[in-house]
Amino acid sequence: MNRLDALRGTTPQKPHDARAIAALAANPGCTRRALLDGAGIDKDAAARHLGFPAPFGQSPFAITRGNAFEALVKADGCAELLRMLRELLGLPIAEVAYHDVENVGAHLRHAHTRALFDRAARDGDDAGTVYDHPLLSVGIAGHTAYLEPDVVAFQLGGRFHIVEIKSFAVIDGQADPSAVAAAARQAAVYVLALRRMLAELGHDPLRVAHDVVLVCPENFANRPVATLVDVRRQLGVLERQLARMTALDRLLDGLPEELTFDLLPGEDGLPTRPAAELADALRRATARYAPDCLATCDLCFFCRDEARQEGATDLLGRHVRDELGGVGSVGEALGLADGARAPAEGQEEIARLLRNAERLRRECLA
Ligand code: SF4
Repeated sequence: MNRLDALRGTTPQKPHDARAIAALAANPGCTRRALLDGAGIDKDAAARHLGFPAPFGQSPFAITRGNAFEALVKADGCAELLRMLRELLGLPIAEVAYHDVENVGAHLRHAHTRALFDRAARDGDDAGTVYDHPLLSVGIAGHTAYLEPDVVAFQLGGRFHIVEIKSFAVIDGQADPSAVAAAARQAAVYVLALRRMLAELGHDPLRVAHDVVLVCPENFANRPVATLVDVRRQLGVLERQLARMTALDRLLDGLPEELTFDLLPGEDGLPTRPAAELADALRRATARYAPDCLATCDLCFFCRDEARQEGATDLLGRHVRDELGGVGSVGEALGLADGARAPAEGQEEIARLLRNAERLRRECLA
C-alpha cells in the first residue's frame, strides 16, 4: 500500500470534481489540504466527525433556480447561448452546429468527447460547433478525475472557449467578486483539462482560449448576459498545484510513517474513529489557514479554531500575515510592538516597524 492509500486507510476514496480541483488553487500553500485531497479523503465527512461541519452546499431553492437558468440558456439547441456568443466572440450563426455529447450514454462519453474534439481540431476553421455535456478528465496524484463543463464552444478561427453558466446575478454590470473568482477557478480547471486532451491528441493546447465565457442572469431577471473572463492567473496556480500533488512524496517525507487520516467507517458508512484522535492526526500536517478558506475548504471551521487557539496571524488574512513575515502569532507581534519581547535574529526590521506602528497608535489615541 502506498503512503497516500495508507493515509486514507479504510475510508472510501472521494472522487474529485471540478469544484474541488478548483479549490486547490485557492490555497496552494496548505500541506494539510494537499495531503487530504491527494489521498482522496472526504474532507466534508472528516469535518462533520470533528464537530466542525462546513457551511457549504446550496439550498434546494438555489439548486432549482440554477438548473432552471441553465435550461433556459441551453434551450432549443443553445439558441440563447449562440445569440450571446455571436456578439461576444463574433460567431457567425450560419456556421454553428450543436452537438450534445450526452446522447451516447455516460460510459462512452469521455471517449466520444475525445473523438469529437480531435475531429474538430483537425477540421480547422470550418468546425464551428457548440458541444453540450462533454466529459473531460484530469490526473490528480495518480488518479483520474472526470469533469463536466457546462458547455464548450468552438469558434471559427480555430479556438475553443469554455462556457460556464452560473446563476449569481450581474447587477449594473457588476457581480459578487468572490463568486466570479470561484467561477474563474472552476472554468480554469476545464481549460486545463481540455488543453491536456488536445496535447495528448497531438494538437496545439493553446487552441483552448484562456478567456472563458461566463454566463449569468442580468439584474435579477432571467435574461442571460455573457462576459469574457481571463483565467491565466488561475491556470498558473492550478498547474503548480497539480504538479505539487504529483510530488506529494516530499510532503509525506516529513510525517511519521504510521500517520493516517482514516475515518474507520462502520457498516453504516459513518466514521467510528475517536474524533480527538483524528484531530491529533490532522494537526501533524501543517495547515495554512486564511479567511478565504471559509469559502473553499470543508475543514475551514476546524482550521480556524486551531488558528484561534494558537493566536496565529493567519486569522488576519494572507496580506497581514505576509507583511508580518516570520511573526507567527498575534501575541508575538504585540510583544515586539510594545518592546516586551526582544526581536529574534532576522526580526529586527519587522520589530522596528511594529514599534513605530504602536507609537503612532498611542499618539492617535492620546
Ligand atoms: S481550511 Fe485548513 S486544510 Fe483547508 S485549505 Fe484552509 S488551512 Fe488548509
